[in-house]
This record gives sequence, C-alpha cells and structure tokens, in this order.
Amino acid sequence: MAQLLRSRPEGLCCPEGNFFIDPVRPVERALITHGHSDHARAGHGAVLATRETLDIMELRYGPGFAGSVQEVQLGERITIDGVEVTFHPAGHVLGSAQICVEGGGTRIVASGDYKRSPDPTCASFEPIPCDIFITEATFALPVFTHPDASHEIAQLLKSVRQFPERTHIVGAYTLGKAQRVIALLRDAGYNDTIFIHGALVKLCDYYESAGVPLGILQPATVEERGAAPPAGAIVVAPPAAIDDRWSRRFADPLACFASGWMRIRQRVRQRGVELPLIISDHADWEELTQTIRETGAGEVWATHGREEALVRWCELNGIAAKPLHIAGYEDEAE
Ligand SMILES: [Zn+2]
Ligand SMILES: [Zn+2]
Repeated sequence: MAQLLRSRPEGLCCPEGNFFIDPVRPVERALITHGHSDHARAGHGAVLATRETLDIMELRYGPGFAGSVQEVQLGERITIDGVEVTFHPAGHVLGSAQICVEGGGTRIVASGDYKRSPDPTCASFEPIPCDIFITEATFALPVFTHPDASHEIAQLLKSVRQFPERTHIVGAYTLGKAQRVIALLRDAGYNDTIFIHGALVKLCDYYESAGVPLGILQPATVEERGAAPPAGAIVVAPPAAIDDRWSRRFADPLACFASGWMRIRQRVRQRGVELPLIISDHADWEELTQTIRETGAGEVWATHGREEALVRWCELNGIAAKPLHIAGYEDEAE
C-alpha cells in the first residue's frame, strides 16, 4: 500500500507510474495540483495539470516552463504506466485540483491545498472516498476558525463608509486571494472601480478570460493622469506592497490584509495592519477534520504546516496518520 506513493526529497513520488505530485525540484514527469509557486515550479520534463493551472504556469514562467504539457479534465481517467489518475476540484484557487492515484486496489488522494467555504472564483471541493488521504495542514490547530468571508468583506465595506477620505489598501496574495476578494466585493454589491497593483493585472485578466467576472478594474498607477485612485477607493495589492513606499502615495492609506493568519493578533501587529480580514483559501481546523472524516480514509498523511496536531487528532480518532516531511512548501502564500 505504501508503495503506490512515497515521500522523496523531490516531493511525493509514484515509483510505479514514474511521476511526482507537486515536486519541489525539477523532475521528468510532474502532476501539478495548482498554480501557486511552491507547488507549480518551472523546469519539469512533462507537466500534467488542468487547463487553468497550465495557463497560470505559462503566465508566470513563460511558454517554455516545461518540456511538454498535457491538459487533464476534472474527472477524466488517465493511465500512466499502469497507474490510474484522476483530478478532482479542490476549491482552493482557479484550476486547483486534488489528484487521485489508484493502483493495486489502493486509492490515494493528494489534496494539494484546499478549502470548503464557498469561493465564487473556483469550483467547489468534492470529498473523494479513499484509503489514504494526503492533506495539507496549514491551519491545523483548533484556534484556527475562519469566519464567513462575506462577514469580513462587510467589515471592509463598513470601514470604507466610515472613512471615506482614506484609501483602503487590501493586501492579498496575487493568485487566488486577490481575485476572490474582488469577486466577494462584487457579490456584496460594491460596483465602484477597484484599483489593482500592476502585479495583479495579468492574473485578473486571466480570471476574467476564464469566465470569472471581476467588474471594472483599473491599474492603481498614480503617474498616469486621471487613473489615480480617488480618496475612499479600494486598492488591491500584493501583501508586500501594503506597508512599503508604494502604498504611501495614496490618500491617507488604511492597511488591510486578507489572510487566514489575521486570526493571530501578533501577525496583525507585525505587519502593521489596521484592518485585518480573516479570509483564507485554506481549510480551517473544522474543515480539515470534517474532510478527513468525509473521505472515509483509514490513513492520513499530513503535509506543510502543523502536521503534528493533525496527526495527533487522527490518532485520537482511530485513524492511522503520519507527517510527510517534504521541505519546500510555504504557508505564506496564504
Ligand atoms: Zn496553494
Ligand atoms: Zn501549499
């Protein structure tokens, strides 16, 4: 059973199928769950992924990011050297997928990153019954409970009404979180132009072309006449931009940050955030444990984050579990 997938320094390896899932070093054949840079790296011989993930990799790394690419549809069965593989929605970012690997009567699901709460910018997670479930553990501590994202967006809009002279600068990771924040603002009825940092333009355009409407967006450049965000505008920018010189050119900037880490007060202070928005693209503690139960897996492998706490929970609940110590995945993407 343990032979079908095993942990190697390059990442999760299927020796029988001669492929890796989200390898952290260049390999001959890679199956990629989603486009975040710690999971989707350039330089593999062949890449198998969803259309959106391939497109996002090309946007980020250029057309030569892999020797060859193959697109897989969600639910489509592909056989690689006798090993059956299917991709299923993970609810994390556009194109994100869990990868199900079957062979010798064993089914293993590698979740990549996932969440269960609704996200207007990507397909919803589906629990896949399996023998072994490989789960992320980014927020695997009971202290992590994520409120409804719509509640956090309501807090943002309340602040915008309360401080109409201040530019609200929302730090949000460039792939997934930024587009989700924008889509949630639209869902909440906010129809004004939203200003975006230059680093977001290509990905926002791509989301639009892939059928995710984001409303009227404009680059947040103060140099171009007429394009500068008016007082009271909402600007979305990469997290690093909210507290640097870039943000100081706007009217009385108010630093907001959309991240699951905003549950932790110390992180809010560290980053100089005035308005923390607890919006996560990863599962919280309840979602993690609920999902493990729903897969019916008799064994769980935990990767990146707080593996030990999740492993302990599994053991207390009669599920065999172990941490997979694969170096190279980051939690900062959240
Ligand atoms: Zn991710
Ligand atoms: Zn990850």
